[in-house]
Amino acid sequence: MNIHEHQAKEILKEFGAPVSKGIVLLSLNELEKEFKKLNSKEFVVKAQIHAGGRGKGGGVKLVKSFEELKTKVKEMFGMNLITHQTGPGGKEVKRIYIEEASDILKEFYLSCLVDRASSKIAFISSTEGGMDIEKVASETPEKIITNKIDFKKNIDSDEIEKIIKPFNFNNEQKSTAHILIKALYKILIEKDATLIEINPLIITKNQKIVCLDAKMNFDDNALFRRPEILQLRDLNEEEPAEIEASKHDLAYIKLSGSIGCMVNGAGLAMSTMDIIKLHGEEPANFLDVGGGASKEKVSAAFKLILSDRNVKGILINIFGGIMRCDVIAKGVLDAAKETNLKVPLVVRLAGTNYKEGKEILDKSDLKILSATDLNDAAKKIVEAIK
Ligand code: GDP
Ligand code: MG
Repeated sequence: MNIHEHQAKEILKEFGAPVSKGIVLLSLNELEKEFKKLNSKEFVVKAQIHAGGRGKGGGVKLVKSFEELKTKVKEMFGMNLITHQTGPGGKEVKRIYIEEASDILKEFYLSCLVDRASSKIAFISSTEGGMDIEKVASETPEKIITNKIDFKKNIDSDEIEKIIKPFNFNNEQKSTAHILIKALYKILIEKDATLIEINPLIITKNQKIVCLDAKMNFDDNALFRRPEILQLRDLNEEEPAEIEASKHDLAYIKLSGSIGCMVNGAGLAMSTMDIIKLHGEEPANFLDVGGGASKEKVSAAFKLILSDRNVKGILINIFGGIMRCDVIAKGVLDAAKETNLKVPLVVRLAGTNYKEGKEILDKSDLKILSATDLNDAAKKIVEAIK
């Protein structure tokens, strides 16, 4: 789960990390009252959406008076912000954060994340902050320093020194940086965060360290024990179909293609997507119905696929293990009747109870194309939607 920048900064502050003072607005009406809490001559108006690259897209504006601030806030509310992370459709701005502006001397990159491969916590630091870190990583990878830290109670001072080495901090800055790194390490563990990214981490012209931007992601599987994090969830920022999927405990990711996929098992779902591409089409989603899905869950999954208007055909690819093919067939049948299915449907069933499953589908009045194997299934659905 992602949270907004202002929420992430609130957590950073709680753990002692240096952030600027700011106010959050959900509407223009709140501006006059909230503004009194700030004490500065310059401000930054920042669109709060769950995507980076806001600066380049016009979602971060520096202003020098209250009048200018008001104009920018007015403009920004309701604006459709397009960044390289929102996709071409953009995202509507419904929340704005206003911060006391900082005078930037240098911009650095700092992040910490769970490194699954080594079962450690990786800290990534780079002097090339502010801009796309992906670009730095591909063009000048030597400018990115990774330090992997064991999972333990506290991070040691010498480990912190290694992490901040590229930044050449003076003594005072170093002591702030130690507090900051300890805070990140603690947040990652105590709040079950999987990623904390500060880009940019800056030195101001007064030589102070400030976290100017903050992105945090949390482990969905740990949210049950972090109610204080779960309450930061903003459903406005999530794909409606994905919210619906999470209610049914389905692993669903919406994509932009035209073939809806219903598969059991993440690996099989990935290969199904690959083979659709191989035959010249694009998948409309990733959907893993999981191991022992009920008829109701299958039915919910099927409706989810159909709720996507881009879907021109559906490919069901099930390898029955714990999951029984007849349960899948019943769920599909129920959902197809309820939704008045109009798009072509190709079904490939294999494994546990596939005969029973096939029989259920054959007996129904649904127009279903059966497939013998995965390649055949992908070929048939691609042809069917032409
Ligand atoms: P992002 O584009 O979504 O990553 O948003 P950021 O919060 O990182 O802001 C983008 C850029 O705006 C930063 O890299 C800074 O260059 C600039 N910026 C943000 N806050 C301030 C500020 O307080 N003062 C100044 N001068 N620039 C800022
Ligand atoms: Mg940023």
